[in-house]
Amino acid sequence: MLTIGVLALQGDVSEHIEAVKNAAKKLHKDVAVISVREKKDLAGLDALIMPGGESTTFYKLCQRAGIFEGMKKIPNILGTCAGAIMLSKNAQNKTKDQVTLQLMDIEVARNAYGRQNESFEADIKTSLGAMHAIFIRAPKITRVGKNVRVLAEYNNEILACEEEVSPVRSSASNGAKGNYYLALAFHPELTTTLFHEYFLRRILAV
Ligand code: GLN
Repeated sequence: MLTIGVLALQGDVSEHIEAVKNAAKKLHKDVAVISVREKKDLAGLDALIMPGGESTTFYKLCQRAGIFEGMKKIPNILGTCAGAIMLSKNAQNKTKDQVTLQLMDIEVARNAYGRQNESFEADIKTSLGAMHAIFIRAPKITRVGKNVRVLAEYNNEILACEEEVSPVRSSASNGAKGNYYLALAFHPELTTTLFHEYFLRRILAV
């Protein structure tokens, strides 16, 4: 059985827990979903979901909880909005002391759609189908590396993308499988389970 952790220090945690549980039900898969708040919660996780919230605060709270470095070792990570900023190798418009996990070969620009009251909703097309998307002081994904695949765009902006990273030492002998990262600028957990289903399918390879 897969164990999925949802980073539960701040942000829309319960919506992601619901969405991933519903996604597992739709796929008829047994998935254990746990809230991640401290170091011991990271043990044995197959995947981590980092919700929307505030990426500066995420960094500080993860540091304080002593989980920031440990999160880098989780093989599969879904990051939405602030979670996507946390995943990125490069983030523009960070606050002075803000650090990201620097795992995924994307560049993001924090708050690039404007202020909180310029948040918006839109019907978008994605490679998983059409959906309604909610953007809450969202980042723009401004550059993606050559191994990153774009899954959704809207008005020429990248909204969703994924990357598979091979293990550095590709010795099959140690069973290393590499990493999978999925980053979304919007909040799928508020309107659909399609991206959570896709994330589970990628991890389970079904
Ligand atoms: N503006 C937030 C940040 O920079 C992200 C907003 C969100 O997650 N909805 O972290």
